[in-house]
Amino acid sequence: MKVSIDPDKCEGHGRCFSTAPAVFDSDDLGQGIVIGDGTVPADQEELVRLCEQNCPEYAIEITE
Ligand code: SF4
Repeated sequence: MKVSIDPDKCEGHGRCFSTAPAVFDSDDLGQGIVIGDGTVPADQEELVRLCEQNCPEYAIEITE
């Protein structure tokens, strides 16, 4: 699984990086960013799906 954040949609609410801090972080402006190249460790996949479903801006995209 890989994950990305569309920076044009993200409004920085922070749900992703507070829910899955091993995968997401915030940049200097408080916008969500993906750590590394976006490859999701197997033990984080469920959390990342939860983040995708709960992002208020629909900014998180998952590819399998
Ligand atoms: S939850 Fe969505 S809107 Fe909020 S910081 Fe993460 S990607 Fe951005």
